Amino acid sequence: MKYISHNPSQTTELAQQFVEQLNKTSLVLLKGELGAGKTTFVKGIAQSLGVQEVVNSPTFIIMNVYEAHHSRFKRLVHVDLYRLESVVLNQVRELGVQEYIDDQETLVVIEWPERMEQPSQDVVVVRFEHDDTGRIITY
Ligand code: ADP
Ligand code: MG
Repeated sequence: MKYISHNPSQTTELAQQFVEQLNKTSLVLLKGELGAGKTTFVKGIAQSLGVQEVVNSPTFIIMNVYEAHHSRFKRLVHVDLYRLESVVLNQVRELGVQEYIDDQETLVVIEWPERMEQPSQDVVVVRFEHDDTGRIITY
């Protein structure tokens, strides 16, 4: 489905609806340019999962782990590979991302997933495009 978001709060609302319709998948890849709204979307996911901490783009670390309060997910893992030129899967594995991906009670959301090898798991891809009128979010 394609949605148009005109402001950040519409993006967080969309993210909340998105979480509710996730089926078995617990791995979400967010694709789109810088400033397109990916991190804003993660903030909405976090709200939906009852995360109490403030979600920010990881600046020096590339992965943040949040405790969730949700019927299905106990944890939200936010990975942002923007600053990495290229990451080999082994390096991502060292972060423990794969263990989180394998854990059905953890929702893993990855910004700039193009910078790692594609996971073999079932994934949901959310695409972000933006122009002057708003953000187009497709999933
Ligand atoms: P990304 O993670 O894709 O780089 P961010 O979510 O960090 O993007 O930043 C998006 C920026 O665009 C924020 O400064 C936000 O305030 C602004 N913005 C304007 N309109 C929207 C919208 N409809 N959805 C999300 N962010 C928006
Ligand atoms: Mg971001």
